[in-house]
Amino acid sequence: MSVSEFELIQRYFTEDSDVSGIVQGIGDDCAILQPPAGHQLAVSVDTLVCDVHFPMSMDPEKLGYRALAVNLSDLAATGATPWWFTLAITLPEADEDWLRSFSRGLLSLARDSGIALVGGDTTRGPLTITVQVAGLVPEGQALTRSGARSGDGIYVTGTLGDAAGGLACWPDTSQEYLRQRFCLPSPRLQAGHILRGVASSCIDISDGLLADLGHILKRSNVGASLSCESIPLSSELVDYCGRERALDAALTGGDDYELCFTLSVANALEIEQRLTSQDIPWSKIGIIEKQQGLRCLYADGSPYQSSGRGYQHF
Ligand code: ADP
Ligand code: MG
Repeated sequence: MSVSEFELIQRYFTEDSDVSGIVQGIGDDCAILQPPAGHQLAVSVDTLVCDVHFPMSMDPEKLGYRALAVNLSDLAATGATPWWFTLAITLPEADEDWLRSFSRGLLSLARDSGIALVGGDTTRGPLTITVQVAGLVPEGQALTRSGARSGDGIYVTGTLGDAAGGLACWPDTSQEYLRQRFCLPSPRLQAGHILRGVASSCIDISDGLLADLGHILKRSNVGASLSCESIPLSSELVDYCGRERALDAALTGGDDYELCFTLSVANALEIEQRLTSQDIPWSKIGIIEKQQGLRCLYADGSPYQSSGRGYQHF
């Protein structure tokens, strides 16, 4: 690379942050981090590979945003507060315009989310971005996939299927709302805070509702019934592809980064009210049952005919 690796890191990935507990950030062999007493560390990592997870033509600023956003979504699903992250980036060349935009998207979301970039690795090769995040959660309050019980209500935040619609219409630029939902997902961190210590299970929807709710069912050893009419669809998605295909996208399309969670009857009302008071859209879409398997039914009792099983990476 014409510019040295060190200079690139200095120019595009080093910035002052006032996140507490960062004893030492970028520039040494290791970052040194001091967790506050009484908290547990929630850690997750995700890799975005060019032409697999995003198109080459994607705006680098949006890509920078998205690379961090999808990881923040995992923290949201755990009920964790974002703390620090690392970035391993493989670049075909040192294109400074590209890096400037990428860094702007990445670091502006980092600032808004109160998370500090504390280290990483920079290499040359096919464009690949790996972000590792860490968050803090008060001891014993982390949300997991394994606590759903028969009788719990099943909920989701926001609307589903929009990101799949945004990807399906690529590179058509007329569907701006759907495109933004794919490129700039909003991690549901605030919802995660409200749910932690209370929801019986939680997962973020990255591979489609049926696939991701399926993970909760498997880990919790339960089944579920969903009501097709209760699945929240945006008017933009329904206008774009019709109600039937919108439901397909909602159930089997990926990349929404909304939360799916379960609440016991005893906790439901309080959490519903707290979500509403924070302007977080939510829908109750079904119920956890003892009977294994996932039943997705219309109000007249007829079953939804699935066209696929969610986005599969391979
Ligand atoms: P080492 O050879 O000891 O691994 P590097 O030369 O790879 O060190 O990195 C120097 C410093 O820059 C380290 O603190 C590392 O964490 C940080 N760093 C490298 N690449 C990135 C990046 N893409 N984003 C943020 N920090 C980075
Ligand atoms: Mg290194």
